[in-house]
Amino acid sequence: MFDTLSDRLGAALSGLRGKGRLSEADIDTTAREIRIALLEADVALPVVRAFIARIKERAKGAEVSEALNPAQQVVKIVNEELISVLGGETRRIALAKEPPSVIMLAGLQGSGKTTLAGKLARWLKGQGHTPLLVACDLQRPNAVNQLQIVGERAGVVTFAPEPGNGVGDPVDVARRGVAHACDKMYDIVIVDTAGRLGVDAELMQQASDIRDAVRPDETLFVVDAMIGQDAVTTAEAFRDGVGFTGVVLTKLDGDARGGAALSVREVTGQPILFASNGEKLEDFDVFHPDRMASRILG
Ligand code: GDP
Repeated sequence: MFDTLSDRLGAALSGLRGKGRLSEADIDTTAREIRIALLEADVALPVVRAFIARIKERAKGAEVSEALNPAQQVVKIVNEELISVLGGETRRIALAKEPPSVIMLAGLQGSGKTTLAGKLARWLKGQGHTPLLVACDLQRPNAVNQLQIVGERAGVVTFAPEPGNGVGDPVDVARRGVAHACDKMYDIVIVDTAGRLGVDAELMQQASDIRDAVRPDETLFVVDAMIGQDAVTTAEAFRDGVGFTGVVLTKLDGDARGGAALSVREVTGQPILFASNGEKLEDFDVFHPDRMASRILG
């Protein structure tokens, strides 16, 4: 996903190699090239501006170092600022002191929520938990079935509304799902919610009602990293409409330009917790800002 960005950043920074001292003009030229690279990768403009301002300020103020030559020093600064824009420290998922913990998934249709439910369940199982999936996407005809299939693949149980009762109430299903988890000693409940193709008021209200009914320990906003700048607008709409405590980036295996990944943390103020990079349940991991920064810098 970050191939072009990596190449462009590499080229911008290689201009400094071999220089004994960096002039202000050297730093300005490099900063300009980094700026273009980030904009071309679809990183949101305010994020690019703040990023470049910090790089310039730090590069110009950098003390002469014995250990690093000027070019290495700038690379170090860019690396540190990339880590910072991606969230700094790895943020682990927050679980309740008293089980069951509730994790609610929200996002647009097609963002990868249902797949993520399976991935998360499989991962949590691997950590010794007993997760229960709860099917609250009653909008899309096949969604419940799809969650059940994903659940089976992950080796976990799915709580779903009884078939044949018409379209159920997702808030009621969420509530009953959590009660079922308490009864049967599941320690984590993963609530899959409905997504629309675009942001709409009804979707936001439904997600908010589910949130109020089950009071999640984490509300994860699931976003397809391939949708570029739209990821940021969608994230803002979900932040304002539902609120969330963490982000999951999906489809990082795609060949889009990756700017969403670099913007979403800074724009929403919420950390990226997990990343998905494929359709298989194992294509999933905890998100580590430092590793992602290294990957981008190549
Ligand atoms: P939902 O509508 O948000 O529940 O999205 P789904 O989980 O149904 O996913 C939509 C499509 O994206 C499906 O075809 C998934 O297989 C695919 N998908 C989900 N996550 C990833 C990912 O990380 N990488 C790729 N390449 N495809 C993914």
